[in-house]
Amino acid sequence: MTLAPVYLDHQASTPLDPRVKAAMERHESLYANPHTTSHLAGIEAGRAVDTARRNVARAIGGDARRVVFTSGATEANNLALFGVARAAVKRRKILVIASEHSSVVEPAFALKDEGFDIQLLPVDADGIVDLDFLERAVDECTLMVSAMHVNNETGVVQPVAEIAQICHRHGALLHSDCAQSLGRLPVRVAALGPDLLTLSGHKCYGPKGIGALYISANRKVPIKPICHGGGQQGGLRPGTLPVPLCVGFGEACRIAALDLDADGERMGRLGAELLEAILETCPGARLNGSWLQRVPGAFNVCFPGAVGDELLSAFDGIYVSSGSACESDVVEPSRVLLTYGLSESEADASLRFCVGRFTEDADIEIARRIVARGVRRLGLAKRTAA
Ligand code: PMP
Repeated sequence: MTLAPVYLDHQASTPLDPRVKAAMERHESLYANPHTTSHLAGIEAGRAVDTARRNVARAIGGDARRVVFTSGATEANNLALFGVARAAVKRRKILVIASEHSSVVEPAFALKDEGFDIQLLPVDADGIVDLDFLERAVDECTLMVSAMHVNNETGVVQPVAEIAQICHRHGALLHSDCAQSLGRLPVRVAALGPDLLTLSGHKCYGPKGIGALYISANRKVPIKPICHGGGQQGGLRPGTLPVPLCVGFGEACRIAALDLDADGERMGRLGAELLEAILETCPGARLNGSWLQRVPGAFNVCFPGAVGDELLSAFDGIYVSSGSACESDVVEPSRVLLTYGLSESEADASLRFCVGRFTEDADIEIARRIVARGVRRLGLAKRTAA
């Protein structure tokens, strides 16, 4: 059997779904400015963007008028944090879960320099925020809480609906980064309850370079732009929208909602099979984060005794990673895993695996063999048993 590379890094990025590619190609000729209303070419391009906006909104049970297209989840998270902070009148406290993506944590730290009271909410060994701690931390000074739906390194799911209730009881806003959950779990604005919700095209089989911030209509969300220019998107996010990217993102969202049940079931089964095989091959290996509160198909495993990059080379033939792709220039143990209570060496000995929509049974079989070979080569079964 040839050991072809198997892509198991879907939390870093997903391939473009052929149906998304086809939709983008169908709109290739729409080169006119979608914000132009003085001729038919512009109006047609604008219509394609409107349809895309409706597809994004429908996938999360929202209102198309509340979708703000951005260049991705990073920009959406920045707009949520800086935009709400800039519009704040009295409240100055912002709470952020310690294991959030860097595109939430870094804006929060930047706001600290601007005089905001920034507090990190600890997570337990399962990676889940302590709701009692949150209840005590949220008060009448709290402007906003940022709580991601699914963690991008471990797949752990936060109780966003419960967090929303706590925030709203105290008049605070909730922002939730849902970049990793759309297409893997139901993401419904009404059920989850965030006031601001982040999405990313390339995490749900859409193109890179596009995402959205959804701003709920249920409660008043004072927000200011962080980038100034023309009046596009109500002036909140000016700039000419990239029509093919909007179309592709809209189609990816439409398919994510359509295929959710089938994808979730398949990815859950394949992920569970691979995890079981890994834990069987390497008896000392441990799952990082919750067993139960986890998105289908994604998991993070610690191979105690292993050192950093040797794992990646030993598992040559499968594409996995040792942390967030957004932090991979930083040669340090995963910040997220340290918040779960892992030591630096345990975090360094951990890898994330994530199957995707196009992963097949044969890929899992190949991955299982490669991991078994790598574990043997590194003598990990013996090292971890010691
Ligand atoms: N949030 C989360 C949870 C992510 O996983 C990522 C991508 N790693 C981002 C934000 C940033 O997304 P983008 O690449 O679309 O800017």
